[in-house]
Amino acid sequence: MQLILMGLPGAGKGTQAEKIKDQYNIPHISTGDMFRLAIKEGTELGIKAKGYMDEGALVPDEVTNGIVEERLSKEDCKNGFLLDGFPRTIPQAKALQEITTRLNQKLDYVIHVDVPEEKLLERLTGRRVCPTCGATYHVVYNPPKEKGICDKDGTELIQREDDTIETVQKRLAVNIEQTKPLLDFYNKQGILVTIDGDQAIDNVFEDIQTSINK
Ligand code: AMP
Repeated sequence: MQLILMGLPGAGKGTQAEKIKDQYNIPHISTGDMFRLAIKEGTELGIKAKGYMDEGALVPDEVTNGIVEERLSKEDCKNGFLLDGFPRTIPQAKALQEITTRLNQKLDYVIHVDVPEEKLLERLTGRRVCPTCGATYHVVYNPPKEKGICDKDGTELIQREDDTIETVQKRLAVNIEQTKPLLDFYNKQGILVTIDGDQAIDNVFEDIQTSINK
């Protein structure tokens, strides 16, 4: 199964990626994770990517397309793959077509986990984290036993700077702008499946399976 996973921040993409990877026994390939790892390990790729990532900008296509092709050429992708965070632009989508053609692969589905923007705002701005142990909570969906206090170590919870309403709204707007042309691109190819992401985690996953097992 050769898949792309798309969804806005807060849509639950990471959670579904884990489930898909286990169920279909395919590697979860996240370009963001690959860049973060490269930076941590101080590789040449990490050095190239760091400046762009620190600014929240996209890493140039020649670098990004290159690491994707290299990764998709690996033995563990013979059975398929789940791409996450790539492609992000139409030129990347076109590059991916060329890469998969070269590697004798073909995309089966692009899974779009769709959650209304107001729900995403609620999910993202309700997030609270423990500055001591890193545990995360949600004021509505996963509250601590005592309001504002970490269950694990009693530290007062904080809201991350990038989880405030202004920042979240900005981040969503940029992402919607970026994603729309890609959704249209794959919709025209007839491989886009849109999943209602505003449901319990297991129901979202069931819908994904139903759509791609057809
Ligand atoms: P993510 O974890 O997917 O949000 O990615 C984190 C950062 O990695 C992005 O802000 C970009 O700087 C970089 N990045 C990840 N995927 C791509 C991509 N497909 N094209 C260019 N840059 C990317």
